[in-house]
Amino acid sequence: MAAAPATVSRRLLGRLRDVMAAGGSSQHRLNEVVRLIAADMVAEVCSCYVMRAGEVLELFATEGLLQTAVHETRLRVGEGLVGDIAAHARPLALADAQSHPNFAYRPETGEEIFHSLVGVPIIRGGRVIGVVAVQNKSRRHYTEEEIETLETVAMVLAELVTAGELISPDELAPVDGNAVLPTRLEGVRLTGGIAIGVAVMHEPQVVVQKLVAEDPQVEMDRLRDALGRLRHTLDEMFEAHDLAFVGEHRDVLETYRMFAEDAGWTARITEAIQSGLTAEAAVQKVHEDTRVRMSQVSDPYLRERLHDLEDIANRLLQHLVSGDESHSTAASTELPENVILVCRSIGPTELLDYDRRRLRGLVLEEGSPTMHVAILARALDIPMVGRVQDALQRISPLNPVIVDGDNGQVFVRPADDILDAFAASQVARAAKIADYAAMRTLPPVTRCGQPVRMSLNAGLMADLPQLEATGADGIGLYRTEMPFMSRAQLPDVSVQTALYSRILDLADGKPVIFRTLDVGSDKLLPYWQSEREDNPAMGWRAIRITLDRPALMRAQLRALIRAAAGRDLHVMFPMVAEVNELDRARAILEMELTRHQTSGGVPPERVRVGTMLEVPALAWQLPALLKRVDFVSIGSNDLTQFLFAMDRGNTRMAERYDVLSPAMLNFLRWIAHECRKAGVPLSVCGEMAGRPLEAMALLGVGIRNLSMSAPSIGPVKAMVRSVFLPALEDYMTGLYALPDRSLREYLRNFALDHGVLI
Ligand code: PEP
Ligand code: MG
Repeated sequence: MAAAPATVSRRLLGRLRDVMAAGGSSQHRLNEVVRLIAADMVAEVCSCYVMRAGEVLELFATEGLLQTAVHETRLRVGEGLVGDIAAHARPLALADAQSHPNFAYRPETGEEIFHSLVGVPIIRGGRVIGVVAVQNKSRRHYTEEEIETLETVAMVLAELVTAGELISPDELAPVDGNAVLPTRLEGVRLTGGIAIGVAVMHEPQVVVQKLVAEDPQVEMDRLRDALGRLRHTLDEMFEAHDLAFVGEHRDVLETYRMFAEDAGWTARITEAIQSGLTAEAAVQKVHEDTRVRMSQVSDPYLRERLHDLEDIANRLLQHLVSGDESHSTAASTELPENVILVCRSIGPTELLDYDRRRLRGLVLEEGSPTMHVAILARALDIPMVGRVQDALQRISPLNPVIVDGDNGQVFVRPADDILDAFAASQVARAAKIADYAAMRTLPPVTRCGQPVRMSLNAGLMADLPQLEATGADGIGLYRTEMPFMSRAQLPDVSVQTALYSRILDLADGKPVIFRTLDVGSDKLLPYWQSEREDNPAMGWRAIRITLDRPALMRAQLRALIRAAAGRDLHVMFPMVAEVNELDRARAILEMELTRHQTSGGVPPERVRVGTMLEVPALAWQLPALLKRVDFVSIGSNDLTQFLFAMDRGNTRMAERYDVLSPAMLNFLRWIAHECRKAGVPLSVCGEMAGRPLEAMALLGVGIRNLSMSAPSIGPVKAMVRSVFLPALEDYMTGLYALPDRSLREYLRNFALDHGVLI
């Protein structure tokens, strides 16, 4: 009779430890281990199979089967019961093994007399590297505890197998996706959406073989030649993508050209060549030096630029080593139909090398939302998850992969049910998008006939086509800092004028509210060196900077005025805390308007000036404020953080306070009331306006103007068209005085009871 399982496990482990410590060859120890397991589990057979190159499981040791089968018997992954265990990376316990459809009879083992079998995978680093199985003559029902014991033992076996003596470690390197565990990897969302495909590894590393040069002059010529060809390919890339990549995407490529033409960079390479290196070795050396220096830079934006530099250095190396850049990355090889690109990091031009029609998703080990490639992926609508630790090791080429951009997770080698679920949700998503698109021309009017203005938040050129696609009323918030952030240097007046003018052209008569530069806090400019602050969100940012550096504000306003010549201009100032700040900003605007007119410029048709309301202090000056502005827009993201004294970027605080609290809703209701009394249009452009339940509450407090990102327009419009405001307002009247921390559940119940689509 078997002893209690926990005891079996502990006793067995004790003995295994002795075997492992005793020394001898690995094969000898493995033989001992299977003997011990068989004895302890009261089984006639215990066998250990090890995964060999090519995904075959080889019998490495057995107690009970014929010894002549050792190193002879081999099973493919998926073949027989042992192959089944490896393929699904899960235990199997069968009282009648031979009646299992996957049973594969191997006469050389003499196993026909054993009826029952229990086996578990031997796993290391998420991969199946072998199987250990126990067999009995009787039709034995193995218990859960026995399976657990065997799993514990398998961990010890994993040590033995990976120690390197039984088989070469190379053989354990991943080959393809069959024999590995489904894994879920966590990262951060860089672009939303779901992508299903197979992994293609992006490994652009070029191996420099010849280090020392005979003639520096020859190397200089080679460098010049390679640089020329590099510039040429970049130019071609510009041309090829000219139509698709306007605005910021062009800026991304411009940054590249800047690197490629950077005199300091080429001077350092030249210097290295003069010291005796080949051109390619010189490029690599300079690149390594820069890398070391840049990696010590704490500024995340600058660090992202390192990837751009890496991209360009790799391209140059490819020109030098193989004559052109087209042969060394996965982009130039035959690609599968649905590519999920896995990389440490990738530069924008490298991304453009891949066939867009085959590229479904991106998985990066590094990455942040402000990196150029993320901007590009968003514009191309490629779901992307970043900061996935060890992605290159944990995903193997051609592994099936699901990128769940919405939730920042990646499923590697997913089980069939997970694949089905995602495929279904992809279909549902597409159907929903189609539904929302069908609503494009339907007016955002409530069931009781109240029109609601719905506008877009934008910051990229790529956002502009969404105006047409969503049927939004205009751009309620254009974050001008975005184009500033994606450039390598401060854009001058003419660059800004061209940009704003293009935005107005694309908006085609719909109003665009330009918010002046809101930098500082978490929005850093690469060329703007400011001092470190303990509390940057409450520090020198937005209008505080532009009032202190009026040249910056003037340049921007001048560009806006020029761009809007003969058209309407809407300007909004961010982070205004007191009326005086608005007055000073307005005075600068007036000055620029006068200057524009006296120098013969065509003035804007109309100028509308507004303020963000995101600092609570401003709400206590509403009577004075409302006399001075044409509109107000509530930045609920910042307003919430300042109202509750809660850092908006601190994940510990994320759930602590709710925008649907009595405090926030009372505050908003009062502001809405004051603005209505004064006849000043009020909108909300923070994230809450784009969430259907929150947007419903905003309608309830009296706000009729919402600005949100493009994907929110459909869901919020569905809510607007299904709500009956008198009932909502009535219901909410009973909520404002409640002591609850959140009114979310009450509001949700109202929506459910009244058929409001949230
Ligand atoms: C806000 O604070 O709500 C807002 C819209 O501005 P940003 O998110 O750009 O700070
Ligand atoms: Mg803000």
